[in-house]
Amino acid sequence: MGKGFFHVPAAVNEPVKTYAPGSPEREAVLKQYDEFFNSKVDVPLYIGSEEIKTGNTKPLSPPHDHQHIVGQYHLAEKSHVEKAIANNLEARKKWAALSWEQRAAIFLKAADLIAGPYRAKINAATMIAQSKNIHQAEIDSACELIDFLKFNIEYMAKIYDDQPESDEGIWNRVEYRPLEGFVYAVTPFNFTAIAGNLPASAAMMGNVVVWKPSDSQIYSAKIIVDIFKEAGLPDGVINVVYGDPEMITNTVLASPDFAGIHFTGSTKVFKGIWKKIGDNIDTYKTYPRIVGETGGKDFIVAHPSANPKQVATAITRGAFEFQGQKCSAASRVYLPKSIATEILDYVKADVESFKIGAPNNMENFITAVIHEGSFDKLASYIDQAKKDSEAEIYVGGTYDKSKGYFVHPTVIVTTDPQYKTMTTELFGPVVTVYVYEDKKWSETLELVDNTSEYGLTGAVFSSDRYTIEEATRALENCAGNFYINDKPTGAVVGQQPFGGARASGTNDKAGSSQNLLRWVSPRLIKETFVTPVDYRYPFLG
Ligand code: NAD
Repeated sequence: MGKGFFHVPAAVNEPVKTYAPGSPEREAVLKQYDEFFNSKVDVPLYIGSEEIKTGNTKPLSPPHDHQHIVGQYHLAEKSHVEKAIANNLEARKKWAALSWEQRAAIFLKAADLIAGPYRAKINAATMIAQSKNIHQAEIDSACELIDFLKFNIEYMAKIYDDQPESDEGIWNRVEYRPLEGFVYAVTPFNFTAIAGNLPASAAMMGNVVVWKPSDSQIYSAKIIVDIFKEAGLPDGVINVVYGDPEMITNTVLASPDFAGIHFTGSTKVFKGIWKKIGDNIDTYKTYPRIVGETGGKDFIVAHPSANPKQVATAITRGAFEFQGQKCSAASRVYLPKSIATEILDYVKADVESFKIGAPNNMENFITAVIHEGSFDKLASYIDQAKKDSEAEIYVGGTYDKSKGYFVHPTVIVTTDPQYKTMTTELFGPVVTVYVYEDKKWSETLELVDNTSEYGLTGAVFSSDRYTIEEATRALENCAGNFYINDKPTGAVVGQQPFGGARASGTNDKAGSSQNLLRWVSPRLIKETFVTPVDYRYPFLG
């Protein structure tokens, strides 16, 4: 145990590097990209000290060059998942008892490794695995992951510091125990930072974790494992398995020691997992913590007083950066008739200026969507919009999967506010616009509130303070992250804790102390110094 009330280093957001032509970081990441792209990696399961190669493998290919193979990964059988859990529980005995400052030091070291020697590696891996341009890779896999690790350590220290009052003669103390059992982390493809944060946030609070990354993120997940290992994370604290997600999840959820799930992904998958947990509730030793951040149908609503160029830029960036594959991406937009054409024409000009292709050509703003399933789904919605009388393709509407899964950023304008692409999460570079009569501003806010099952992010644009307040009130339950005169994407750890309600998740705000509190179970310890020896209270005379 530590002999001192240690203060953790103050967390500050990691500065985003520019990767401008001629910069050393640009040269380093491109060199690393070439090295990775032209070699082959063999990604094992990580269980305890073992790196298990099952021989049952799948290839790893970049979405922008799907015939090119950069390696393979090994699929788990049920027995591996059971082994991962058993190993976790063994590792828990030492990990849960380790002093908090030792745990903190490991994750602070991991953050510094990413900021320094692993920066080019994790960015290049994210460019290859998820087809991010360098700016998107940098803000995600380097900066956001560093921020998650550093800020969470700061929040951890604040949680431990939160102690009850003590009356005279007694001492009340709260211990923030890790959950009794293990935590299951299930991560999405779209953010390397989320992939690292979901297992790490539970682990830093003293938990052991079975981590199942997305099949489409394994190449960059491997770099996270390398970093945690180099930072000194003991074997068995985070065990990593891949394979059939349903089999892995069913095996995990059948364990009596399952103590919580840290999930980010689609709403349908999360609801399915929640149901299974309910069905198994009698199996568990403790009520499992269920934390899930899921889908979105995020909006931009502009008031007639809004600045058209600002709205257009928010649409261009908010809908199309990383090909719209952010849970926070703007995908339904409400524009007043008086300025709609001006805004749409600015967006059209922006979209027509985009360069599209592989991320190692740094002129490309748009790269590929994640896989063929996503490409085919997006193509079918675009084709349908071309046929439907209530929809018009304003710009974009083309796609090509001959080499990579490229979908041209597309703006659909619809006359039906309930049109399919106004209500369904497509998770790609497609945004749908509904133009409303200026005088129907208040009705439009109701429409924004009622149109989607989700409640993740949204933005209002206006230069009129009364209408800003009206929108803020009317849309209170419509977004967990609400933006005024700004795009609805780009939340920064420590500044805009992220998460939404309704069908978008449990809103436990990744990168905040609220989230970390889900991974502990407080124990109150009351100690009395002079213990009573007579049951009679004074009132008894
Ligand atoms: P996904 O739901 O397809 O996959 C997420 C994870 O769940 C993956 O690890 C996957 O293998 C696993 N999975 C898939 N089917 C499963 C099953 N039947 N049982 C158990 N696990 C299963 O999501 P994705 O395509 O990787 O990510 C995109 C989705 O994630 C979008 O809906 C997006 O909005 C959401 N997302 C939300 C947030 C947020 O903070 N709210 C952040 C990022 C992504």
